[in-house]
Order: sequence, then C-alpha cells, then structure tokens
Amino acid sequence: MSNKENDCIFCKIIKGEIPCTKVYEDNDVLAFLDIKPVNPGHTLVIPKKHCENLLDCADKELNSVMKVVRELSNKIIKDGAGGVKVVCNNGQPAGQIVFHLHVHIIPF
Ligand code: AMP
Ligand code: ZN
Repeated sequence: MSNKENDCIFCKIIKGEIPCTKVYEDNDVLAFLDIKPVNPGHTLVIPKKHCENLLDCADKELNSVMKVVRELSNKIIKDGAGGVKVVCNNGQPAGQIVFHLHVHIIPF
C-alpha cells in the first residue's frame, strides 16, 4: 500500500480505525454521514479501493459508487427531502480537501 493510502483518512474509516456513522456498505462501496453536514442527512459515498477523485477512478468502482449515490438519493427523497444536490470536488482548486474519491449527497 502506498503512503497516500496509509495516510488517507477515508481509508482509515474503511478499515475501522476512525469511526463513522455508516449508512450503507457493500463489497466495493461505503457511505457515511459527513462530519460537518451542510444539511441533516448529508452523506458521503466512497469506493473502498483508494483513488484520489473522479479523474483517476476506474470504471468499475465509479459505476458502483454512482449506483449507490442514486439509490441513496432516492431513499433520502422517499424519506422526506424535496431534492438532493450531488457534488464531487476534484482537485484542491475546486475545493477538494480529502483526496479519496467521495460523492456528496446533500438533502434539500
Ligand atoms: P471535500 O474534499 O471538500 O469534498 O470535503 C471533504 C468532506 O469530508 C467535508 O465535507 C468534511 O466535512 C468531510 N469529512 C472529513 N473528515 C470526515 C470524517 N472523519 N467523517 C466524516 N466526514 C468527514
Ligand atoms: Zn483512501
């Protein structure tokens, strides 16, 4: 494993070394609540296999992540939200702070 992955906070969450409020998990994908939610229910969806962002993510992982993004978005709307903002920041100038691909689902 590269240093990048060893130092990655989201890889530590996947390994259970840092706690999270899990909302969904399968073999390839984990989803948990954002620690600083824009709105209640603000969720992050990540691949279990480390990649930096959308730009270097393999098709298989990206497909798995986006499928879960859609499923959870539909669930959040079924549970009462009027809509969801789905956001992915790619690169530091675009506001990316954590360099492990994560897709934000923000309920409105
Ligand atoms: P960004 O890289 O700008 O898309 O933002 C990273 C997101 O990860 C922010 O919304 C943070 O609040 C969130 N975040 C950082 N650390 C944690 C953590 N340990 N648990 C949950 N969310 C986190
Ligand atoms: Zn990582």
